[in-house]
Amino acid sequence: MIRMIYEENEFRPVVECDVCVQRIDDAAGANVEFSVDRDTFEPQGRIYFVHKGCSTKLRGTEPTAEWFWQPLEPFLLFLGNSISFNETRAKEHPHVRYRG
Ligand SMILES: [Zn+2]
Repeated sequence: MIRMIYEENEFRPVVECDVCVQRIDDAAGANVEFSVDRDTFEPQGRIYFVHKGCSTKLRGTEPTAEWFWQPLEPFLLFLGNSISFNETRAKEHPHVRYRG
C-alpha cells in the first residue's frame, strides 16, 4: 500500500508491504504482484506491494487467479514512463503545498 505519513514535520509518501504491513525501504528487496483470471488473463484489479520474502504468502488467496510479479524498481520506471514523469519538474516542488 502507498500511504502518506507525517514525519519530522513533513508529509512523506511511503510504501508498505501488503503482507506484513512493514515499510518497504529498499526497492531492490520488493516486488509488485497482481493476479489475473486464469482463463482470460484479465487483471483482477489490485496491485500488491510486497517484500520479496513475503510474496509467496499472497499465492492461493484467490483460487481462480494466477499471480504475476515484477521487481519494484522496473515497475516504478514503467509507471513513470506511462505518466510522462519528469524528474526535473518533480524536484521543483517536492513538498506538499496544498490542503484540499
Ligand atoms: Zn513484507
